Amino acid sequence: MKILVTGGAGFIGSNFIKYMLSKYKDYKIINLDKLTYAGNLENLKDVEDNPNYTFIKGDICDKELIEEIFSQDIDYVVNFAAESHVDRSIIDPEIFVKTNVLGTVTLLNAAKKAWEQGDSFKEGKKFLQVSTDEVYGSLGETGYFTETTPLDPHSPYSSSKAAADLIVKAYYDTYKMPVNITRCSNNYGPYQFPEKLIPLMINNCLNKKPLPVYGDGLNVRDWLYVEDHCKAIDLVLHKGRVGEVYNIGGNNEKTNIEIVKLIVSYIHDNVDPTVDESLITFVADRKGHDRRYAIDATKIKEELGWYPETKFEDGIKKTIEWYLKNREWLKNVTSGEYQKYYEKMYSNR
Ligand code: NAD
Repeated sequence: MKILVTGGAGFIGSNFIKYMLSKYKDYKIINLDKLTYAGNLENLKDVEDNPNYTFIKGDICDKELIEEIFSQDIDYVVNFAAESHVDRSIIDPEIFVKTNVLGTVTLLNAAKKAWEQGDSFKEGKKFLQVSTDEVYGSLGETGYFTETTPLDPHSPYSSSKAAADLIVKAYYDTYKMPVNITRCSNNYGPYQFPEKLIPLMINNCLNKKPLPVYGDGLNVRDWLYVEDHCKAIDLVLHKGRVGEVYNIGGNNEKTNIEIVKLIVSYIHDNVDPTVDESLITFVADRKGHDRRYAIDATKIKEELGWYPETKFEDGIKKTIEWYLKNREWLKNVTSGEYQKYYEKMYSNR
């Protein structure tokens, strides 16, 4: 089995590659990543010498390169590659459309060309699009997103992901190309770039910097430990019904302020007693900020037997401890480009 993983140097992709290489000793994985500010080969140093792992630096929009990769008889594609940060999409939407939409179509076209056999497709092929619950828009205080909830994205990021989902669906509807789409809630865990809530707060606590919290801090997200997401993708890849969408969620709703207070309290109790809630700084709300996301994951549970195995109390503890042990990693990724962006975002607040 040969799997093309795109965006494998990012947060979820790198966790997925390591999970798959350790679970399937005879699978070959090709990681195609452009190494944007969010891609970091340090995330994969444990596997760089694994003979079943190959890294290719490149862009999913590069048609020639993608077609060349497909000449190597790829069985599965798992498309993680994306511009993934909502705040950045508000500042610069164009790259989100380019990577998330045009990149996905470039991959689909190359896969279609390589996998087509007359009017149908070769056996055992699959294109899995890794998507997000954000494509469904925002919930009020009650209710859950199911796979049939209409798409109603609000940010340039979620709109570009929704557009990509629709193109993937079109390749199934039109050509019967073997695809799945997974829509997952917020992930947390090791190797997440510290512009996202949890690692940002941990990093700022460690550096005694203000902890910027949007609006009233009461926006709700459904948090899932990254390894549970990887397990769900593995199941959908091997057993998901072709053409189907599967929601993946942690059944674990938390407000942003709850998460921030939890991190502060852990660092206060275990690392630095001078870190406390006085660091919390409420800042102007994110434009178009969705209030609440919550996933109904009944379908993947009933069809494939998946459920979130990691309890939040354990997952968050493991995560904070990972960042504490890997301060060098944090230091390296927070220098350079990220630092410039961070200063632009937060200097006036
Ligand atoms: P990330 O930003 O950490 O990683 C994205 C990776 O894609 C990086 O390694 C980057 O270098 C690479 N990349 C960007 N543009 C590229 C291009 N044009 N060609 C090749 N590689 C490119 O993102 P993540 O948090 O790991 O998310 C991965 C995927 O999962 C994304 O598609 C995202 O929409 C989706 N998702 C993320 C979450 C979450 O909570 N993080 C939740 C649900 C879905």
